[in-house]
Amino acid sequence: MKTVYLDHHATTPLDAEVLEVMMPYLTTEFGNASSTTHDYGRRARAAVEQGREEVAALIGAEQPDEIIITSGATESDNLAMKGLALQRADHSGHIITIAIEHKAILDTARFLEKQGFSVSFAPIDRYGLVDLEELRGLIRPDTFLITIQAANSEIGTIQPIAEIGAIAHEHNLLFHTDAVQALGKVDVDVVRDHIDMLSISAHKIYGPKGVGALYVRKGIRLQPLIHGGGHEMGMRSGTLNVAGVVGLGKAALLAKRDLVSESARLTALRDRLRQGIESRIDLVQLNGHPTRRLANNLNFSFSFVEGESLMLGCRGFALSSGSACTSASLQSSYVLRALQVPDAIAHSSIRFGLGKSNTDEQIDALLELLVENVKRLREMSPLYDMAREGIDIESFSWSEHDHHNH
Ligand SMILES: *Cc1c(COP(=O)(O)O)cnc(C)c1O
Repeated sequence: MKTVYLDHHATTPLDAEVLEVMMPYLTTEFGNASSTTHDYGRRARAAVEQGREEVAALIGAEQPDEIIITSGATESDNLAMKGLALQRADHSGHIITIAIEHKAILDTARFLEKQGFSVSFAPIDRYGLVDLEELRGLIRPDTFLITIQAANSEIGTIQPIAEIGAIAHEHNLLFHTDAVQALGKVDVDVVRDHIDMLSISAHKIYGPKGVGALYVRKGIRLQPLIHGGGHEMGMRSGTLNVAGVVGLGKAALLAKRDLVSESARLTALRDRLRQGIESRIDLVQLNGHPTRRLANNLNFSFSFVEGESLMLGCRGFALSSGSACTSASLQSSYVLRALQVPDAIAHSSIRFGLGKSNTDEQIDALLELLVENVKRLREMSPLYDMAREGIDIESFSWSEHDHHNH
């Protein structure tokens, strides 16, 4: 039997309709979109411009030339932050972000710090939600950028981006959002939501890998990261990946067309899984926000069970756990750590990332496996025995912890 794919935050399969529109540009329509002295180039250019329009339509951008094509959201995040920072004459200033951003934001922030910029992290609550008043309080005279994700890829928490954008604009700051996980699930509109720059990745919305975009509001200038022929309004040189842009455009069109129906379907599927887990398994904890979360995301900790072992037990399902295997040790996810989730709970977490192809039957089959494996793994856990006998594990572990500290 084919493994059921439940890891749609990591990537999504290419939609058959997307592949279909890409095919000619991988075969007969090989023109260079910049070589418009002949019809090969002109047809490639027209295809790219249509893709740009489709992306613009998805996010409510007023003009297609506000869409800069990139190699994916990692590059888009880099271009937004470095592009803005490095064109400041004095190479200094202040950026505000949050600790649960994608590494493309966090590592770029760290890089910019080394270049002399300063970075602040706005506090988040235990659900990962940014505190707007605290965010406002962090703004300084030299702040030039707020970058906060639209939704989180591990815990699914959806940030109040329109309110954040309004705060940024009240203070004449630019607002960038990494909207990779939100697109296709949340209605995002760059004008209504006061967004100046927005990162998109095709492969997270059933498009091809290796292509994405950065929305850059008209009038904003960025220092290019890649110099050359002056493509993409001078902000990103290089011959365009025409098939990729066509695929990105089609994926954006489908995401817009199916937003309402697919979000409703995913929400029902997600809630079926959530209710099944909460009604059939005790000592579980939902990570992320109880209501402000992506339609396709659940993240649960199953106390007294190793997430990795549970994942292995759920044979036939492609899942992801809250632990990251580094060369030295098993580290709990930086996102869960930022939410102050204790290590033991973080290591017992599993992320469920639902998508277009998933069905009620698959969810029900997964629930059976979860129930069976959690029971089996807990039977092997001495701590679980203590918990059942009424020994207070929380205080037990805390006194152990204190003991080590003294
Ligand atoms: C996947 C992802 C990225 C990186 O996108 P790529 O196109 O794979 O470079 C950035 N941000 C978020 C939130 C993501 O989920």
